[in-house]
Amino acid sequence: MNNPESSIRAASCADDYDPDSMPVAKAREFIARFLTPVAVIERLHIRAALGRVLAADIVSPLDVPSHDNSAMDGYAVRFADLKADGEVTLSVAGTAFAGVPFNGAVNAGTCVRIMTGAVVPPGSDTIVMQEHVKAAGDKVTIGGGHRQNQNLRRAGEDLKTGQVALKRGELLRPAEIGLIASLGVGEIAVYRKLRVAFFSTGDELRSIGTPLGAGQIYDSNRYTIHGMLTRLGCEVIDMGVVCDDPKLLEQAFNDAAHCADVVITSGGVSVGEADFVKELLERMGEVVFWKIAMKPGRPLAYGRIAGAHFFGLPGNPVSVMVTFYQFVRDALLKLGGRDPLPPLPTFRVPCTSALKKAPGRTEFQRGVLTQDAAGIWSVRVTGEQGSGILRSMTEANCFIILPTDQGNVAAGSLVEVEVMEGVV
Ligand code: AMP
Ligand code: MG
Repeated sequence: MNNPESSIRAASCADDYDPDSMPVAKAREFIARFLTPVAVIERLHIRAALGRVLAADIVSPLDVPSHDNSAMDGYAVRFADLKADGEVTLSVAGTAFAGVPFNGAVNAGTCVRIMTGAVVPPGSDTIVMQEHVKAAGDKVTIGGGHRQNQNLRRAGEDLKTGQVALKRGELLRPAEIGLIASLGVGEIAVYRKLRVAFFSTGDELRSIGTPLGAGQIYDSNRYTIHGMLTRLGCEVIDMGVVCDDPKLLEQAFNDAAHCADVVITSGGVSVGEADFVKELLERMGEVVFWKIAMKPGRPLAYGRIAGAHFFGLPGNPVSVMVTFYQFVRDALLKLGGRDPLPPLPTFRVPCTSALKKAPGRTEFQRGVLTQDAAGIWSVRVTGEQGSGILRSMTEANCFIILPTDQGNVAAGSLVEVEVMEGVV
């Protein structure tokens, strides 16, 4: 972990730090400087390792494939026996099956029937597809036009003994799990799951199962945060709702920081509320409060408390999700050991809606990508874009990302979209 002494505030002075208008990319870069992976390693069977991050390179203990083998069902022949343009008839000396090699060699004038994956018998150097021969009894007739070494898979052509098959920091998806199994390796080193504690702040919040009084609302942020963290493979510690009371908040921050690698809160960082939270966090650690030049999700706090990373997200439900995906997601993946972390793909499509946008902030509007009868994709905006309208997130399948300087967007213009599938 980073040394908490490595000052978050001092680092900020070095690069035109302006907490009142922090561009999204700058805030991301700033946070990235304080992230080092949680170095705790555990060993797991590969079946249990899906979604985890490799903590050590996987070095191949063998050649893959381990033998020269056939890529086709056909006949293993000596290329020298074939004619460039003309037919030749060879006698079939036997059969090589996958897993049951032909016990012998291919001598001049002979060939061996061979199945896909079977070891290429000594003496032969070329495989002729069964569709390209005329077979009659134990003889086959083969025409011209073949290449030496065709349809052969060479030992070690996929991986050689000692070669790094997978690098530390890679996410274990089904393909990686399969590749490790193909090396005969059953147990691997992975990083332990990141522990993330979170709570909601606000006197107006009630939990499910409690009737609502005047002016009260149900706490939804804890549920979206729980879901987003679970999807990222974190170990989640739900600490409930905490009232806007400095004593209770201090206790909650303390408890959270002592049981987790990362603490996430929602609410309490907007102007007015921020002041006493600021005071509290200043005493407890090092936290910077930003007004990010983005919409939704302007206020954001980031720092360290008692050795834990801290993200203070805004209170509005859509702002919580957008700031989580723009800042917290990447940070958690890096802390969890992911390296490198490829950027999420975005692409440009025509937008069928006219979009309202004032220059000055990056906007993450919620969009619906659809394909027309001709197979062409376009995007429209989900209705109202208020930062409290969580329905805009449930209806959306993408974010429409509008850059800082962009003004209103006319219907039919190209816009940048980031697909939510696989991300949210
Ligand atoms: P705040 O940032 O605390 O001023 O909150 C901004 C808005 O988000 C207010 O309307 C809050 O009622 C609302 N809000 C804050 N926390 C939650 C929560 N956990 N669930 C739903 N709405 C919330
Ligand atoms: Mg509040």
